[in-house]
Amino acid sequence: MTRVSITTVGNDAVAAFALAMERSGCDDVISRGDRVVIKPNWNGVNVQSSTSVRAVEAACRWARDQGAGDVIVGEGPVPLARERVDASFKEMDAEARVAAAGARFVNFDDEEHVIFRGKPDLPEEIGIARLALEADVIINLPLLKVHSCCLTTLCVKNLKGCLRPEDKMAFHRVGLLPAVVALNQIVRPAINVIDAIDAMEGDHSHGGIVHLDRLIAGRNPVAVDAVGCAQIGLDPTDVPLLRLASEAGLGVHGLDEIDVVGAPGEPRQFELVQDHLARKYPDLTIDESGACSACRASLMDGLYIAGKTRQVNSIALGSDAKPQPETLVLGKCLREYWPTHRHIKGCPPSGHAVAQGLAGEVP
Ligand code: SF4
Repeated sequence: MTRVSITTVGNDAVAAFALAMERSGCDDVISRGDRVVIKPNWNGVNVQSSTSVRAVEAACRWARDQGAGDVIVGEGPVPLARERVDASFKEMDAEARVAAAGARFVNFDDEEHVIFRGKPDLPEEIGIARLALEADVIINLPLLKVHSCCLTTLCVKNLKGCLRPEDKMAFHRVGLLPAVVALNQIVRPAINVIDAIDAMEGDHSHGGIVHLDRLIAGRNPVAVDAVGCAQIGLDPTDVPLLRLASEAGLGVHGLDEIDVVGAPGEPRQFELVQDHLARKYPDLTIDESGACSACRASLMDGLYIAGKTRQVNSIALGSDAKPQPETLVLGKCLREYWPTHRHIKGCPPSGHAVAQGLAGEVP
């Protein structure tokens, strides 16, 4: 049976990480001199929605203790303005703290990518960070949080950060879930750890923090994600991304097929993105029929940025939506309505543009 461990962190993340590795049977993965790439979820949006630096430091120190040669913390953030991404990394003090833990931080966007063409379920051409492909060992280290399209964004989804910036949006257009599964056939982390110290519910960027104080670890990303989902009240067999990944042979996602060891603690029921929207914006009508995840993410961003300035309470996005006359329409899928409706152009529209539209600042 695939083994997944749950470990309480407390005050000593370094000791907790080592214990998580031992419990999950990951402590013989690294050989002396290996090049290890640690892949956090450092999205560049904000610190709260990123893997904690504590967990990353602990992973760096553990890898060094295992005899790793070069230890790299690598991430390709969300394709935002470079200044915003750099400000987020600076706020974390990422470079200095990673260096103090015996590793070096690399923004994959500044590095070489290996090109793949014509692969099933993927955009016609994608580029994957060479450092990730050529690592002896990848430690996949996402934050535990919910997601508007995938329900959660954990180990399987986290590998999207190995792509070139332009590929990330292309993934949304071809179908995010099958594309992410196909990516996992190419990039294969040997160690998978969910940072569930301060997890996020309600939204994947601006949600509420839930202190769970746990690491969830194992060799198989699908099994680790399954246990992560169960910890936040989701039945992993109801999570489409895990079902697809399991069908593709990437791992098991039924809890009865996973040996869960350590300190499971009580699962907590997390608020999912759609529930959060309905609760926070009860006056808002959203027709998102046929919308892809990129447009949904822009809407979430826009709602957050607009805050109390929002004037609009009817929004439509996606190719099958049927906007009413007063509806604000988002994105080029609904361009047939542009001549008659207030609208935001783009594919996807930017979060800031959506916020302006929500504040009534577009004709
Ligand atoms: S307009 Fe929006 S829903 Fe349509 S493809 Fe572009 S991002 Fe997706």
